[in-house]
Amino acid sequence: MSSYVNEVIERVIKENPNEPEFHQAVREVLESLRPVVELNEDQYRRDALLERLVNPERQIKFRVPWIDDNGQVRVNTGYRVQFNSAIGPYKGGLRLHPSVNLGIIKFLGFEQIFKNSLTGLPIGGGKGGSDFDPKGKSDREVMAFCQSFMSELFKYIGADTDVPAGDIGTGAREIGFLFGQYKRLKGCFEGVLTGKGLPYGGSLARTEATGYGLLYITEEMLKCHGQSIEGKTVVVSGAGNVAIHAIEKAQQLGAKVVTCSDSNGWIYDPDGIKLDLLKDIKITKRQRLTEYTNAVPSSEYHEGKGVWSIKCDVALPCATQNELGLDDAKLLVANGVTTVAEGANMPSTIEATEYLKANNVFFLPGKAANAGGVATSALEMSQNSERLSWSFEEVDSKLKDIMIGLYHNIDRAAEKYGFKGDYVVGANIAGFEKVVSAMNAQGIV
Ligand code: GLU
Repeated sequence: MSSYVNEVIERVIKENPNEPEFHQAVREVLESLRPVVELNEDQYRRDALLERLVNPERQIKFRVPWIDDNGQVRVNTGYRVQFNSAIGPYKGGLRLHPSVNLGIIKFLGFEQIFKNSLTGLPIGGGKGGSDFDPKGKSDREVMAFCQSFMSELFKYIGADTDVPAGDIGTGAREIGFLFGQYKRLKGCFEGVLTGKGLPYGGSLARTEATGYGLLYITEEMLKCHGQSIEGKTVVVSGAGNVAIHAIEKAQQLGAKVVTCSDSNGWIYDPDGIKLDLLKDIKITKRQRLTEYTNAVPSSEYHEGKGVWSIKCDVALPCATQNELGLDDAKLLVANGVTTVAEGANMPSTIEATEYLKANNVFFLPGKAANAGGVATSALEMSQNSERLSWSFEEVDSKLKDIMIGLYHNIDRAAEKYGFKGDYVVGANIAGFEKVVSAMNAQGIV
């Protein structure tokens, strides 16, 4: 048992009080790094390697004043945590959600370091956002917020330093407003954000990438175990960008997806989710899921949480952190689930993950399974740098190759340290090894 790992976990908890999600992310990663840390304990301790890993290079917190449609001034808090730039410019999304606080952004930024490393592309880890809630706001209010947010953030970002993107609450509309304000303030048209619209430097397939990537890696894992997703029953949580495109690719691969959910409730459609209808409700009209059952009377709408109670072969949590707890994991196992692959960031609690693994469920953690989004963002950066844009097929085939390569990378890393089939350990170790060798090469900075 590595006491160095224990010491660093204790320090993180003591020095970052009231940040439970950050503690959870650090604990999960460091616990699985034990075998690597034990082999190098003296050197890592002397170099304070783990202390440097768990302390962001920089964290920025700022005031975001804006005026609502009634002429009332509102004030939100903005954040950007630039966590680790050992392998490339900071890269990670901006979350706009009332639950956002420093601890949430730090957990996401910490996860992002390892996820970005696993893509094999040159991107460091960062994350940002605000407690602003775009839900129910007019387009003008969203623009006012985005312009104010960027008026501070622009000082700290750039195509070669830090490249933010979308996340929960930040989609094409928000990225457009943010990009316009950056360009105006800097007087410079550069690839400073990803997830941009196609007419101004966005990449084809970026919108689909997280959901499609989730299915590409899940299919590759199943294939390596002599199985396929074809004909399987799948439950999905969420109804945002990740969930919608996960449902789309799962259906293309021949699976039957029977659920989705939003912050108010969830849908069970035993005949399979009608994707065109779901897209119309959620993307075009920004409506509630109750509209789905109004249009499909044979489906059920339930208030609150509940998708994990539906019998399935494959579960894809695509909503938010800690949405799948121990009781949900027990229900899934009792109903015969064989595979859980995380489309969201840290959607399973540590207890749920342990239970699923102990019951021989194939478990693909978010930092591997949802890496297709940020990987395609890095492809958007490449296209911006060469001032070209690639076809949908070209980007999609690169994404597929990245996800297949990523699966084999984490599978090999797990096996190398004696944890064959434990993709949590494999993802953390494989992501860590690349970052550490870059950090070591660059000296104490
Ligand atoms: N927010 C996404 C993530 O969690 C994408 C980040 C990006 O494209 O930079 O990975």
